Amino acid sequence: MIIVMQPDAGDTEVAAVEARIRAAGLGVHISRGTERTLIGAIGDERKLDPEMFDTLPGVERSMHIVKPYKLVAREWHRSSSVISVCGIPLGGTTVQMIAGPCSVETETQMNAAADAVAAGGASMMRGGAFKPRTSPYAFQGKGVDGLKLLKDAAARHGLPVVTELMDVRMLDTFLAQQVDVIQIGTRNMQNFDLLKEVGRVDVPVILKRGMSATISEWLMAAEYIAAGGNHRIVLCERGIRTFETAYRNVLDVTAIAVLKRETHLPVIADPSHAGGKAWMVSALSCAAVAAGADGLLVEVHPNPPEAWCDADQALTPAEFVALMGRLEAVAQAVGRTLDRRRQSVEPARHATVGNLIRETC
Ligand code: PEP
Ligand code: MN
Repeated sequence: MIIVMQPDAGDTEVAAVEARIRAAGLGVHISRGTERTLIGAIGDERKLDPEMFDTLPGVERSMHIVKPYKLVAREWHRSSSVISVCGIPLGGTTVQMIAGPCSVETETQMNAAADAVAAGGASMMRGGAFKPRTSPYAFQGKGVDGLKLLKDAAARHGLPVVTELMDVRMLDTFLAQQVDVIQIGTRNMQNFDLLKEVGRVDVPVILKRGMSATISEWLMAAEYIAAGGNHRIVLCERGIRTFETAYRNVLDVTAIAVLKRETHLPVIADPSHAGGKAWMVSALSCAAVAAGADGLLVEVHPNPPEAWCDADQALTPAEFVALMGRLEAVAQAVGRTLDRRRQSVEPARHATVGNLIRETC
């Protein structure tokens, strides 16, 4: 950290700053220029905060010179991390598709959704059993029964599941139900207690960007998870709030490029919650993959007009298959491969509910 003193700051003010730095256990380097004095703090500057200095007499401003995040920063970990989800690599040269309905509704809906996403070649299945709804009167999700329906439908095709955890009290249930990837939604990106708890478990986490979060805040949220010991983190750009009202959110494609430079963690994008309309999903998906996304999280419903949640943005099974075809070409154009190894037309009949995932994971 560097502390810039005001032009008229004297030795007493400089000494007070020095004392505060030393009290935090860091060394001090003082540079006296003709105009003003600069004080450098030497050591682990994460122990310091500009607030510790900005209120002291004679201080003009203070600033960090290294990033406040460390474990997730590419600065400290040059090579890109590849996170394995039941043997499926997130990061690296492949692009993975995670698809499924916004919310788990019924067994019939989930089986049809699983058949559709498997037929298109998705690598993992999504579905919300606990839904963060704006209105307390809206459908809140099927809860634990929903987790079971998701696992059972996905197991018919050997697909790992991704589902949102909203409440730390449900974490043990998620582990007991063998949720393969825990999703932390946009509204909980800065729920620090929740982040600390998922940081303690050995389950991959998709951390969605808070809809009004800066990239730095988002990476600090990821740092919370990593600091607990769980380094299996995937960042998901899902659109941010801006002045624009023509669509739900703005897919921040720039953030994908920035994250690739700032962090070694895999980055995926959710074009469904960004645009909020099914017809935008294809264009946004292509843009995200072209910008370097390692995967996509897309909403697919067997019958979108009947969806209990986010009906407007869900792709039909046929639209999903068409999207996968288009993405294959985009991925190839940017030197990647869309991973469709798990593509299947028929449900995996040999797989009995619950045990296939356990075998493959
Ligand atoms: C979701 O993926 O179902 C969801 C609610 O997403 P977000 O947190 O991005 O709104
Ligand atoms: Mn949704």
